[in-house]
Amino acid sequence: MSRKAMYDLSYGVFVLATKTSEKMNACITNTCIQVANSPTRVSIAVLNSNYTCGMIKESKRFNISIMDKNTKYNVVEHFGTKSGRDIDKFATMSYKVDKDGFPYFEENCCSYLACKVIDMMELGSHTLFVAEVIDSVVLNDAEPLTYAYYQSNIKPKTEKVNTEKKIKGWRCKICGYIYEGAELPADYECPLCGHPASDFEPIYE
Ligand code: FE
Repeated sequence: MSRKAMYDLSYGVFVLATKTSEKMNACITNTCIQVANSPTRVSIAVLNSNYTCGMIKESKRFNISIMDKNTKYNVVEHFGTKSGRDIDKFATMSYKVDKDGFPYFEENCCSYLACKVIDMMELGSHTLFVAEVIDSVVLNDAEPLTYAYYQSNIKPKTEKVNTEKKIKGWRCKICGYIYEGAELPADYECPLCGHPASDFEPIYE
């Protein structure tokens, strides 16, 4: 099994947003694909540990805002590395709501899809949602962002490791999982969220 082969799959980058009676939340995903066209349907796989996942199971509705190449890292960081359990992600970001009151984003996004869940399947780490696209809107003519473009042009390069202090462990920036030990294997994957070693940051003594 080669991890590299999995990385060669191409993906887009999306802000996945939903709301329940209590609150709105959004996260970043790269897993939205169209799976049927009559009626138009998409699938999306969401980490079960993501706050958004449980909210979609409740609301059965979500919006996919398709990020474009003008996206800034701080937007991806805001929606992708913090949890809606801890902060209100909408407090500091401008957003719009569709006719059902579900949020979507105009800034940094070229289109959005309003989606209604019709089926779901438990996949272990993730839940797969199949949804009907009940509305689709083009917001601007910017080129959509791909995950590969994000990795090479938008995400900051891993900062130079501070050699003054000794590293005692590594923290997953996605879910907070702690790996104990100075050396994080290059092919390591977070046992909680499945993200690769590049999403870990050092913890110093
Ligand atoms: Fe993790």
